[in-house]
Amino acid sequence: ASKVSSVVHWFRLDLRLHDNLAFRNAINEAENRKHVLRPVYFLNAEKINISGINRLRFLIQSLQDLDDNLRKINTRLYVFKGKAVDCLPNLFKQWQVKFLTSQVDIDPEVVEQDEAIEKIAEELDIFIVRRVQHTVYDFNAVLRKNNGSVPMTYQKFLSLVQDIQVKEVIYINKQISDCCKATDFDCKDFDVPSLDQLIANDRTNLSECKYPGGETEALKRLDMYMSKKEWVCKFEKPNSSPNSIEPSTTVLSPYLSHGCLSAKLFYHRLKQVENGRTHTMPPVSLLGQLMWREFYYTAGAGTENFDKMVGNKICTRIPWGKNPEHLKAWAEGITGYPFVDAIMRQLKQEGWIHHLARHMVACFLTRGDLWISWEEGAKVFENYLLDYDWSLNAGNWMWLSASAFFYKYFRVYSPIAFGKKTDKDGLYIRKYVPELKKYPSEYIYEPWKAPKSIQTTAGCVIGVGYPKRIVEHDKIHKENIQKMSQAYKVNKERKAMKRPRS
Ligand code: FAD
Repeated sequence: ASKVSSVVHWFRLDLRLHDNLAFRNAINEAENRKHVLRPVYFLNAEKINISGINRLRFLIQSLQDLDDNLRKINTRLYVFKGKAVDCLPNLFKQWQVKFLTSQVDIDPEVVEQDEAIEKIAEELDIFIVRRVQHTVYDFNAVLRKNNGSVPMTYQKFLSLVQDIQVKEVIYINKQISDCCKATDFDCKDFDVPSLDQLIANDRTNLSECKYPGGETEALKRLDMYMSKKEWVCKFEKPNSSPNSIEPSTTVLSPYLSHGCLSAKLFYHRLKQVENGRTHTMPPVSLLGQLMWREFYYTAGAGTENFDKMVGNKICTRIPWGKNPEHLKAWAEGITGYPFVDAIMRQLKQEGWIHHLARHMVACFLTRGDLWISWEEGAKVFENYLLDYDWSLNAGNWMWLSASAFFYKYFRVYSPIAFGKKTDKDGLYIRKYVPELKKYPSEYIYEPWKAPKSIQTTAGCVIGVGYPKRIVEHDKIHKENIQKMSQAYKVNKERKAMKRPRS
């Protein structure tokens, strides 16, 4: 056990040195009191098993980059395998911890750990500092401004934040004094493990790395997009293509989700680009996208059971069905609808798909075609998305399934017409569903319509080389609209019964 006291900064979704006030607090405390500084990360083995390997790779790369950057300022990252709640209590004693800093998280699993850790820390007289630094605005302050209730529309949210001044971003680049180093500073046991060490054999789903993790990469990517001033000022989300081969939006989301990039820095850089230029506006502008993130965060922070239908007071109850085969076909990209399948396969391979592509497959799974709960879809997204984020995932799934925020359930995406708008020859489908590569454009979205002779010439007979459709969209979506209408009626009646009579 060490004889000197320590200050711990627990890195979680703040894998960066810029805009990290909690870490700055830790450094100041360690230097002022001549304590040892211990920046830690807990790699949760349970989580590793369920999350897709691409996201794990992104995380490992981000941790490696963080460690490199920490070493440049004369400190390092101490990585532990296990849950924080299991590791920290021992470390508190072993390291004689006096001060613990971290970012504020709203994911209930993390909150639960935080509460347990807080109790132990209190007994040991450890001072805890937590900072809201995953969003531009302090969502708790926004909720207070709205008298404690969740702003249910985007416009309402914007009106609440419009006069809030966003503080400048701080940077940590000063060398940390030698007295903050521990004697086990160079110990390899705390090094960031390699992907090979973690997953040994199973690399089947690992594909080429399109989006390497880390703060360094995040800042590079941000610079690249912010230098395209005209592109930023003309950005209109609904007009960006869901099926372009190269992404039509920034793909900054994995960096924001892991905290390699601070939302506040992104905000200030966008304001700088917009300043003095004609530019598009929220909700469609790029700044408007960032505000969607803030909107869902605030809703997530203010709603109990936000990621569930039951016990979630903003979520409409819909009697979803169960169909494990359909769910599997959807998740694996073998529904027989080439556009849906291409999207799901891109998701599985690359860990990122365009927002409108997410719309397409989320609508298809839920109210559009398969009538399966959005909670099931959200779990699949949690496994595969590099940018998985507890509140953004749940919030957007509720939107798409018309369970909250959005109520035009009768507007259903067509798996045939929607993709054609931006890619009539189906180049995107040809890339991700290569079985259909040789199909004539006329049939690429509806290969079952191709005459047998064409199917044979294209080298892929439907039902043999590529699945038959698992449902008939034309028929089923109309039935589902009826079911939605019925569910809305029942919910309305239920609410009316709950309302006190005057
Ligand atoms: P850009 O268009 O370049 O936007 C810039 C940033 O704004 C994004 O990086 C993101 O942080 C934020 N943003 C943009 N759109 C949204 C939105 N609708 N909601 C919240 N934030 C937004 N996004 C996640 O980050 N994590 C998720 O787990 C997630 N799950 C989703 C699930 C469904 C069913 C749907 C429909 C959307 C989901 N999104 C999620 C939102 C959105 O699709 C992605 O944030 C966006 O596509 C990321 O790509 P980008 O960085 O190129 O976005």
